[in-house]
Amino acid sequence: MPDTALDLLHRIFGHTAFRGEQAHIVDHVAQGGDALVLMPTGGGKSICYQIPALLRDGVAIVVSPLIALMQDQVEALRQVGVRAAYLNSTLDAETAAMIERQLLQGELDLLYVAPERLLTGRFLSLLDRAQLGLFAIDEAHCVSQWGHDFRPEYRQLTVLHERWPDVPRIALTATADAPTRREIVERLALEDAKQFVSSFDRPNIRYTVVPKDGGGTRQLLDFLARHPGQSGIVYAFSRKRVESVAEQLCKAGMKALAYHAGMDASIRAANQRRFLQEDGIVMVATIAFGMGIDKPDVRFVAHVDLPKSVEGYYQETGRAGRDGGASEAWLSYGLGDVVSLRQMVEQGEAGEERKRLELRKLDALLGYCESTDCRRQALLRWFGEERAGGCGNCDNCLSPPESWDGTEASRKALSAIYRTGQRFGVGHLVDVLRGVRTDKVAQFRHDVLSVFGVGKDLDDRQWRSVFRQLMAGGFVDVDVEHFGALRLTEAARPLLRGETTVRFRTEPKAAVRSRRDRRTSEAEAFDLDPASLARFQALREWRAQTAREQNVPAYVIFHDATLRAIAEGDPADLDELARIPGIGSSKLDRYGEAVLQQLFDAA
Ligand code: ADP
Ligand code: ZN
Repeated sequence: MPDTALDLLHRIFGHTAFRGEQAHIVDHVAQGGDALVLMPTGGGKSICYQIPALLRDGVAIVVSPLIALMQDQVEALRQVGVRAAYLNSTLDAETAAMIERQLLQGELDLLYVAPERLLTGRFLSLLDRAQLGLFAIDEAHCVSQWGHDFRPEYRQLTVLHERWPDVPRIALTATADAPTRREIVERLALEDAKQFVSSFDRPNIRYTVVPKDGGGTRQLLDFLARHPGQSGIVYAFSRKRVESVAEQLCKAGMKALAYHAGMDASIRAANQRRFLQEDGIVMVATIAFGMGIDKPDVRFVAHVDLPKSVEGYYQETGRAGRDGGASEAWLSYGLGDVVSLRQMVEQGEAGEERKRLELRKLDALLGYCESTDCRRQALLRWFGEERAGGCGNCDNCLSPPESWDGTEASRKALSAIYRTGQRFGVGHLVDVLRGVRTDKVAQFRHDVLSVFGVGKDLDDRQWRSVFRQLMAGGFVDVDVEHFGALRLTEAARPLLRGETTVRFRTEPKAAVRSRRDRRTSEAEAFDLDPASLARFQALREWRAQTAREQNVPAYVIFHDATLRAIAEGDPADLDELARIPGIGSSKLDRYGEAVLQQLFDAA
């Protein structure tokens, strides 16, 4: 009896059922159909080509742009007993020759290759002599020159189709917007491929946006206190910020590491390895970090500075909760962020058209931050998906923001900008409105203006909120030539003249809580009873050690979800252990005894 797809899913991968569109995709491709798969990060794309690869005769060639990711994926497959290998520039000649031999002798189920290697004449003629079952093109959006991951070699991949028209192709991506999708179809000649489009919703991620109080470190620490012992990523805007935030977290007693492109490559690689092998590490990074990180148990992604676009933001937050467990995406931002980002765009090298596009993207993100509606609805709408009703799992759904009539305050704020000559940033404007006699006020004689002191009814935070919302509403923009001075836009006129009104969101009160009740315990964070938590921690320690010994990421040994299930089920023998989801036959053979020993010792 030949294996069915479901048998393989159970026996090899240890999963109980296919998710979403997986079953249809696997069927279609296993039967020789071409497919274009659009699924969000964490949706489960790999299974969509890995199971067809096992069902079809011959080897599956997987094109993948990221060397580190390729290695981790191959390692994960080997751990479950699949005959997988990769060919890339990191291999020595001898190993490469051995893998080529295995390819020709039909000893591989999957072979991962980087596109530039695949496209060499030598490799293509090697493929002529192999039995091919399938081509999988991962990260297919790399063909798009408008995305940030453009890889020119991807454009030549049509050669696969021309040379081996009978071998089915499956292209996969987590980038969803319509222009990119059209470009993939056209550039990879996938006009006849069946398209499988999943929802881009990630219901297990909770979205929260908070306005920055001061530098925002206090708020970050409060947020992190909700995630003790959990792994997560903190994204910051610049290398300098990364280093200072990482240092502050370490001072606060956290296991924090830094990652940015300016660091020594070997330190960077070591930090990345620790993040993958150890539990509970907070990685503070620029967006240079994350592409090619398949870690499934990232429990939070925090942005301490404003990202550049909604797409980028969604992709970065998507790195949380790939395993489907509850996760958080948290963003804090202030007007200062908007000013620095605008400055960066306008002073950048890009052409005028590109700059305008980037500024529009930034505005869209600002609008998202200041919105009072469901965050998820807004994010999905950006990707062309309409979602009826609120999600119940974002800050605005969980505690709907109140609003107030901001017309009067706006007129004061706009006048302050106008009367001071549109040459000052928000800090000074707030001083003028609140009637604070600073040196700068004295120097420019702003205390004689009619707007001086007219805004004593609002405090500093509230005024900053007014300015942010005026900017998000397009009434005000930033003059980057003048160090972030605010200026009025055309849209400000009717508001100044009293012809329109605006409503603003009410800022939540700054949280004043004692240190004690801020901390979440580890048992709460992982939602385990104390005995299970003890077993879980013992298993994690064993896993970290095993991962270090084999020099592989911890998750390729077992996922957190599997360790949790073991800790909760407390199986007494191998039979009971085998029934736990996530444990296929190969993992049972390899690690079953060791796991039972851990449980025994922890008892
Ligand atoms: P993507 O490449 O789309 O980001 P992956 O293929 O890495 O997603 O899968 C994301 C996570 O979901 C992985 O941890 C994987 O083990 C898990 N997964 C995939 N399919 C299933 C399934 N049918 N049942 C349970 N877990 C699954
Ligand atoms: Zn919501």
